[in-house]
Amino acid sequence: MKDASQLYLRLLSWVKPYWRTLLISLLAMAVASAMQPLLPVLLQRLVDEGLIAKEPLAALRLPFWILLTFIVKSLAEYAANVSSQWVANKAVEDLRRAAFHHQMQLPLSAHHAEQPGRMLSRITYDIPQVSSAMSSAWIVVVQDSLTVVALLGYLLWQSWQLAAIMLLIGPIVAWIIRVASRKLRSSNAAMQESMGQMTGAVEESLAGLREIKVFGTQDFEDKRFVKISERLRKETMRVVRVSAANVPLVQVLAAAAVVAVIYAATQLAAREMLTTGSFISFVTALSLLFEPIRRLTNINAVIQRGLAGAQSIFGLLDTPPEADRGAPRSERARGDLRFESVSFTYPGQDKPAVQDFNLHISPGQTVAFVGASGSGKTTLMSLVARFYDVQQGAIRLDGTALPDYALADLRRQIALVGQHAALFDDSVAANIAYGREDTSRDAIEQAARHAHAWEFISALPQGLDTRIGPNGSLLSGGQRQRLAIARAFLKDAPVLLLDEATSALDNESERVVREALVELRKARTVLVVAHRLSTIRDAHCIVVMERGRIVETGTHDMLAAAGGAYARLLASGEELVAD
Ligand code: ADP
Ligand code: MG
Repeated sequence: MKDASQLYLRLLSWVKPYWRTLLISLLAMAVASAMQPLLPVLLQRLVDEGLIAKEPLAALRLPFWILLTFIVKSLAEYAANVSSQWVANKAVEDLRRAAFHHQMQLPLSAHHAEQPGRMLSRITYDIPQVSSAMSSAWIVVVQDSLTVVALLGYLLWQSWQLAAIMLLIGPIVAWIIRVASRKLRSSNAAMQESMGQMTGAVEESLAGLREIKVFGTQDFEDKRFVKISERLRKETMRVVRVSAANVPLVQVLAAAAVVAVIYAATQLAAREMLTTGSFISFVTALSLLFEPIRRLTNINAVIQRGLAGAQSIFGLLDTPPEADRGAPRSERARGDLRFESVSFTYPGQDKPAVQDFNLHISPGQTVAFVGASGSGKTTLMSLVARFYDVQQGAIRLDGTALPDYALADLRRQIALVGQHAALFDDSVAANIAYGREDTSRDAIEQAARHAHAWEFISALPQGLDTRIGPNGSLLSGGQRQRLAIARAFLKDAPVLLLDEATSALDNESERVVREALVELRKARTVLVVAHRLSTIRDAHCIVVMERGRIVETGTHDMLAAAGGAYARLLASGEELVAD
């Protein structure tokens, strides 16, 4: 149970900033709990003084006191409820923000290491579990525990002999709850796992709707989903069974204790060791114990679910973010890029994706990379953007190894246009100025013109202010690419990475986008991967890659004449010679 207490402590540290409100809610809970034993006390006096001794004043006064007790208790409960929910929701919001923030800081390899849906379901499933444990469960725990303690204290004071019988079952109840807790937490972890799978499966099939329809794989997807969904149901039922068994078990134990107490009480009463009032009061206090004990055993399931959620969130927060130990560099890089015996293997793979790679690119040069799919072209680009760190050798920008740049400063030197531009459901202007909210309209228009995008933007119903739909779904592929290029223009970085920026386009859009790219490539260091000859032909240098290695370098004319790998690609690759 050591790690459970660590979890509690760590959760508590998230509550700490709000300790003042927490204190208020604890006080309110204490008041509410203190009102509980007052009820049997007043009842005892009502019976002994009002009914048996028949004092007229007592019969009047005591019902009034009972009413007052209820009013105070209700007010205190209200205050406790609202204030503790406030604290819990604050803490959960902080946790949620931290989780999202941290996800953005994780290296790509950490994202690849997990099931794709798991990251999402952390926010959509795990956090709400923590939230309900913290907001509702903990009130129950604190307030009902206080109530139980107050009532037990009263019972002890009334008659320690009777209370002792009651206390005998305590350890047994504690043991049952402990065993159940352990079971619950491991089942809950399995449930989170299934939840992540489900989120992933839904996400994937939504993204692939077109393929699913065309390939007619609805049934296949259905079957896949049913399997995951069924697993989730089974895991859920496992949790239900454990937590449901808990409550009746504890109740039966408590009932047995009550029966024993009542039997003992009649014996005491017969020997005149207990007044009628005391007896009634004792039984009342006992019956008041039932509800909080039931709630306490019940709430355990919620708490264990919350702890499992917290464990997964803390696991995320403990995953190291991208290494960022370089020195800050504010100046603009010249764009001198040097690969020195670079080797890189993806985590968990045994074959390197890039091997013993040596290349020097002078500022302003364009280098084209060609090679079969899987030859390591994209990987090379990822290494320049430092999405991954090389394992051997070094990549130097202006003579400085990439890890020696502060990450943000390094990435400020790099613009990237990939095969599919990531666009957001916002206006055209906001998408072009993504990451630079303070850009003027003129600058945005300028960038759009350079990217040959102005023509279609000005034809849109609201021009720059037209919303483009989720992931730019209201635009064509060529239009999306030109927005991405406009974005790169605005970023005005000295190093430009173009990874199949035109590959997904038809010939006509490709021509327009290529013209935009010719513009963008001026006075920059450019690494370009493309299939079309038109994009490659005028590069200063063409690098032919095979299985992560360089097999040939040279200009188009040189390589075409040499009759090597490039010439073979030219002859075989339809795409490469499409126009
Ligand atoms: P290209 O862009 O030339 O088609 P890539 O650089 O994408 O090639 O891939 C190079 C090799 O690395 C391939 O064998 C591919 O399977 C592998 N690879 C690419 N991305 C990953 C990844 N995220 N995890 C593991 N292996 C990868
Ligand atoms: Mg690629």
